[in-house]
Amino acid sequence: MRTEKKKTRIRVNGKRLAVSILVLLLAVSAVIFVATRIGDAIREKRDANVPDGPDPAVNEPSNGTGSETNPGGNGGTGNDPNGGTAAPDPAETARTYALENGVLMLLNKDHSVDEAYKAADLVSLDEAICCSDRPAETHFLRAEAAEAFAKMIAAAKADGFEIKATTAYRSYGYQNALYTNYVAKYGQEEADRFSAKPGTSEHQSGLASDISAASVDWALTNKFGDTKEGKWIAAHCAEYGFILRYPKEKSEERTGYIYEPWHVRYVTVPVAQEIMNDKLVLEEYLEKYHITQ
Ligand SMILES: [Zn+2]
Repeated sequence: MRTEKKKTRIRVNGKRLAVSILVLLLAVSAVIFVATRIGDAIREKRDANVPDGPDPAVNEPSNGTGSETNPGGNGGTGNDPNGGTAAPDPAETARTYALENGVLMLLNKDHSVDEAYKAADLVSLDEAICCSDRPAETHFLRAEAAEAFAKMIAAAKADGFEIKATTAYRSYGYQNALYTNYVAKYGQEEADRFSAKPGTSEHQSGLASDISAASVDWALTNKFGDTKEGKWIAAHCAEYGFILRYPKEKSEERTGYIYEPWHVRYVTVPVAQEIMNDKLVLEEYLEKYHITQ
């Protein structure tokens, strides 16, 4: 009798032990499952953030040297962190490049070029990104600007916005005809607010283009600034090296021309980003760095 009782107790205890192990195993696998899910979620979130942040990714090599200092820093008198050999300031290098390349050329009511001025590297834009009802002779930009312009228009298209150049390069003669026409129509005082006298137009530089969209019937109107296309340009043009040359806030008194959300001007990416981020106009940027021309 006694032994039988003992046996049953052992059997009961054995059963309890098996149940406990099972519960423990279940708990452990539950913890592992939850931990894996959290890990996946974090990874997914990190991956999802990548397309949103092209700028930080681009900046990483220059800014992110902190984490990479160890391999080089073991060498001794850490060149990297202290900058013993003075590395050139990237912003200054970019500015010098733009200046030497003629991309910071200033054309306004006080700065002009003569009738014969024509950049040597004008290239034709793809007609698919130009308004076909404007003369083909105006569908040119300087090579670097043309390439950047095409990229910007393609990026807009990829985001669902169709934007086209109306006129880009304009010769002195073309601008002369345009200006004379506006003066006849609106009077000189009014025409001078939005149209440049020949020789003072940015369009002669081959670095500027007017753009528009179907939503404003391909017209040059300040309504373009309120369209989805105009907002896209304002938000993204600097990524491709363009600025809004005549912004709303300080156009007329600072640039001499009314607000023109349709007029973009190429200045290279780093310069454009500084101008757009700091809400400058080209004149202010050039003054800031004492660039005279
Ligand atoms: Zn223009």
